[in-house]
Amino acid sequence: MEMPNTPLEPVDEDWSSALAIVAHPDDLEFGSASAIARWTAQGKRIVYLLATRGEAGIDGMVPEEAGPLREQEERDHAERTEEEGQESEQVDEPDPEPQVQR
Ligand SMILES: [Zn+2]
Repeated sequence: MEMPNTPLEPVDEDWSSALAIVAHPDDLEFGSASAIARWTAQGKRIVYLLATRGEAGIDGMVPEEAGPLREQEERDHAERTEEEGQESEQVDEPDPEPQVQR
C-alpha cells in the first residue's frame, strides 16, 4: 500500500471536551495516548467510550478470564487519570472472536 505524501495538518485545539470511541480496552493507549495526555494537560475533558471488554483479545486466555482482566486494567488506568480530566464509560457489547480467512 502506498502512503500519501501529504504533510500532516496541525489539529485544531480550540475545544474543551472530547469523546474518544474505541472497540477495545487499551486501543487508545496505542497511538492516541500522547495526544490525550497533551489535551488533558491543557485542561480539556476527555471521555473514553469502550464498546467491548476485549475478551477475544488475549491469545491463550479464555474470554471469560480475558474480558474482566482487560476491563479492570482500563478501570485502574481511568482511576489514576481521572484527576487529569479523563473519564471512561463502557458499553457492554460482545467482542467477536477473530475470524481467520483460509
Ligand atoms: Zn483493539
